[in-house]
Amino acid sequence: MKVEASFYEKHKDKLHCFLCPHNCLIKNNEWGKCKVRIHEDGVLYTINYGEITSAALDPIEKKPLHYYKPGTYIFSVGSFGCNLTCSFCQNYTISQYKAKSTFITKDNLVNTAINMENNIGLAFTYNEPSIWYEYVYDTAKLLKESSPSYSVALISNGYISEEALKTLLPYLDAMNIDLKSYNNQYYKDICGGRVTPVLKTIELAAKSCHVEVTTLLVSGENDNLADIENIAKFISSIDANIPLHLNRYFPNYKFDKPTTDKELMFKGQEIAMKYLKRVKLGNI
Ligand code: SF4
Repeated sequence: MKVEASFYEKHKDKLHCFLCPHNCLIKNNEWGKCKVRIHEDGVLYTINYGEITSAALDPIEKKPLHYYKPGTYIFSVGSFGCNLTCSFCQNYTISQYKAKSTFITKDNLVNTAINMENNIGLAFTYNEPSIWYEYVYDTAKLLKESSPSYSVALISNGYISEEALKTLLPYLDAMNIDLKSYNNQYYKDICGGRVTPVLKTIELAAKSCHVEVTTLLVSGENDNLADIENIAKFISSIDANIPLHLNRYFPNYKFDKPTTDKELMFKGQEIAMKYLKRVKLGNI
């Protein structure tokens, strides 16, 4: 459903969107980089409000949030669109394309979550929830205000403006944030973004909710021990208790490099554990 977007302002004949660090300046009838926000005659609209492409009752560990209410299940939903363009994206059919979706009102989603057996709350995942912002904000707020014992989790690339993040954080219990690399060139070349805003997101989120961090180790790109050590050092500078997930990559989307070497993953885990208390290997 198309609704007016938040976090934008007029800038001469363009609109400046500041939902995420791309800070797009969008001409009339053109889209922002995320391809879900469009300028139409002086108004910025988002087209994915309430549009659900995937929904499942998942184990919380699958998010991955291994240390937030372990052994429970969470109703997980996603839409379409992303503000990064990772060449190895494991969910590219919904992140890089406008996938087939079903509209579900915020009340319907919250009621479904509350009436579902064995469910602890709502997780926004699968595609990038920060550019699904208006719906995520409305449903998270509704769930937390009507049923505070339910949890809200965000599985995100962390590419969101500080203002938007701070507005949403009061309604979040847990976040898993991707830190794709500590190297800005990697973010620029492979993902179409920058690392600094993601570091800031981790820092801010850790002050407000449970945070776990995930790094996908892509063969020949960021599967080097120096990068893993830098990531672990950075996280420990915030809190050595923040869990780090080092995930194995499988060829997908534009990347056909071989799967990540398991031996390297074990060495990476050993190095990261010099700085952090909890480092888990994923997809092995
Ligand atoms: S959310 Fe980000 S990518 Fe999308 S229009 Fe706004 S600034 Fe651009």
